[in-house]
Amino acid sequence: MNIDLHCHTNVSDGVLTPNQLIDLAIDRGVDVLSITDHDTLGAYSIIDAVPPHLQLIPGIEFSSQWRKQGVHIVGLNIRADSKIIIDTTIRLNYLREQRAIKIGEKLKKVGIHNAYENAKRIAAGGTITRQHFSTFLVKNGNAKNQSDVFKRYLVNNKPGYASVSWPSLKDTISYINAAGGVPVIAHPLRYKLTATKLRNLIKDFKELGGKALEVVTGHNQQSEIELASNYAKRYDMAASVGSDFHNGNTTWSQLGRLAKLPDGVKPVWELW
Ligand code: AMP
Ligand code: MN
Ligand code: MN
Ligand code: MN
Repeated sequence: MNIDLHCHTNVSDGVLTPNQLIDLAIDRGVDVLSITDHDTLGAYSIIDAVPPHLQLIPGIEFSSQWRKQGVHIVGLNIRADSKIIIDTTIRLNYLREQRAIKIGEKLKKVGIHNAYENAKRIAAGGTITRQHFSTFLVKNGNAKNQSDVFKRYLVNNKPGYASVSWPSLKDTISYINAAGGVPVIAHPLRYKLTATKLRNLIKDFKELGGKALEVVTGHNQQSEIELASNYAKRYDMAASVGSDFHNGNTTWSQLGRLAKLPDGVKPVWELW
């Protein structure tokens, strides 16, 4: 089975439309797909028709906060018409808009004009993210590539950073559970936490009703897959698999081209 439970469309910061993404998934032979845009379910009301051999699992990637650390929590197999989820996406998109305005003001102070307007234009009506600022700043010649632009402008203590009070981990998990979904810690190794902190995050997550860790993500090495899988086993969490595909330009996050889950972990799809 080809399973990919984490990817983005242009309803957030991916480049493909929801229907183009579905076509790509079909081309790649994906059997089970979840579109998990940042803080929005918008893609699901745009998709036309899905052939019966492609199982589409409603999902979302929520921005959340654990202690002072921003974390991403994927909600899989949620009821997409859940009021609590819809209300939360509206609130989060408002927070994103306010943050984007602040980022624009901050960049103006270092001589970069109209960043908000340009990011907004690139987002084209979708959920606005730092990715859209990053695309503008690269085009504008302020940095040579995406990772450079994040490092120089868009992270804490840099001139284009504005903080957001995302919902707590506790609240995020409760929204997903209330919608009948499975809460999953997205890309657990990407937060660059110390081993102790990562263990604490997983313990808290589990205690609050979290169910799974993303064990295979687009660009991780076999050693990272083993490490994440050991955490899943140790804390009795299910394991998810998702490319975090955003666009076709990167070699490390291709839709439907993922390593297999290691033996001995419980696949997240057994929970639905
Ligand atoms: P946001 O959710 O608005 O804070 O934006 C986060 C998004 O920006 C992530 O989902 C990635 O798509 C992208 N992103 C974050 N950090 C980096 C980075 N260091 N390099 C490239 N893209 C990044
Ligand atoms: Mn993204
Ligand atoms: Mn993420
Ligand atoms: Mn993602």
